[in-house]
Amino acid sequence: MKLDRNEVEQYALDHWQDFAEYLKHPSISSQNKGINETSDWLVQTFKKLGAKTATKWHDQGGNPVVFAEFTGNSDYTVLFYNHYDVQPPEPLAEWKSDPFTPTEKDGKLFARGVCDDKGELMARLGVVQYFNEHGGLPVNLKFFVEGEEETGSRHVSLYVDAYQDELQADACIWEGGGKNSADHFEVLAGARGIVSFDVSVQTADADIHSSLASYVPNAAWRLLDGLESLRDPQTGEITVQGYYDDIVSLSKDEQEAVANMDFDADSVTETYGLKRPLTTTHPRKELVNGTTLTINGLSAGYEGQGVKTIVPRQASAKLDCRLAPNQDPQKIMKLIEQQLTNNGFNDFKLHLNAAEDAWRTPMSDEFVQLALKIARIVYGPTTKYVPNTAGGGPVRPFGETLKLPIVMVGIHYAKSGPHAPNEHIRLTDYAEGSYYLAELLEQLK
Ligand SMILES: [Zn+2]
Repeated sequence: MKLDRNEVEQYALDHWQDFAEYLKHPSISSQNKGINETSDWLVQTFKKLGAKTATKWHDQGGNPVVFAEFTGNSDYTVLFYNHYDVQPPEPLAEWKSDPFTPTEKDGKLFARGVCDDKGELMARLGVVQYFNEHGGLPVNLKFFVEGEEETGSRHVSLYVDAYQDELQADACIWEGGGKNSADHFEVLAGARGIVSFDVSVQTADADIHSSLASYVPNAAWRLLDGLESLRDPQTGEITVQGYYDDIVSLSKDEQEAVANMDFDADSVTETYGLKRPLTTTHPRKELVNGTTLTINGLSAGYEGQGVKTIVPRQASAKLDCRLAPNQDPQKIMKLIEQQLTNNGFNDFKLHLNAAEDAWRTPMSDEFVQLALKIARIVYGPTTKYVPNTAGGGPVRPFGETLKLPIVMVGIHYAKSGPHAPNEHIRLTDYAEGSYYLAELLEQLK
């Protein structure tokens, strides 16, 4: 079927309200709110749209995963990943409308979760409904909608492992895409990994009078010396042995795409009010295939008002490393621990907080190429290809276990404000994104 762009876009605009109830459920995973109601609503909605299966999985623990399956007019199967949980709406005083009352104003739709990531699923449901009314779905569709993305997706890989048969597909369309700060549409094909951990050191049983700093060790200095020993202060290079070894270099086409990514150093400097120069001369490459060692916070000794002259007994820091595809989070933490020992800091204790693997589908993949080709037709030649996001997501089980090529495409824009008050999308992006998806499904059959 040849799709009429105006008709599909108008349909999306006329029908988003069919799914608006989704935005009214305060499904806040971190506070355990609204999880059952929201997942129930999803199951009912999938059934109403004609799903041959629509059910909740909860046997692997955590919040239930909603799974649905639709039969289309070809053998090709697309699996969608979305999440139905949202961040808490606070601070409430900064919202101009109620966060759980979808509010349309000046061509924008405001609600908690409308960008991250309920609006994307609504657009997908709208496309299903459109095809239902216009000759049926071009391909089979499966939906995997989890309920704890905002708290770290801790059970996703268990569900993917347990339900490999149900999740069989030919390709996977992820959430979280859209337009960048130059308002150019981006097609992404993966995510970086992360490992987050605490480092602590204790040098005495109690804080000590600072006059005795003349001879007692200081935990704060010791922590700083240890952390300092992990990087070159001139270049910022991480000096942990083996740290960069597993990074796979980008293909020639990927390198070219990275060189063409939108990045405006002046606007970044202005946005964040940076007081120092950028830490790299090749930020695009660092964002995609680079790795970091970040001190998130430091804590030691007396931090209150006025004078308290002590030598702190204990010091700790919170760190995270953003990891390129193929870097193993647990291994990276081990390497850091080993390097600290080698550098003479074997009294440091490391405690793992969270870890998530990176994953990237190669740009040469057929499905990635098709998604990009159609994006260039729908969104024009300014469309950018970004091999993977700088952030994370539970992508790897879908790529590795299910062996699916993955693209991330969506409906947000740079000012959508996910996690912030007045989170919103532009309805024009919602309409365009719906047409893009319909066209992609149509050409996959
Ligand atoms: Zn989020």
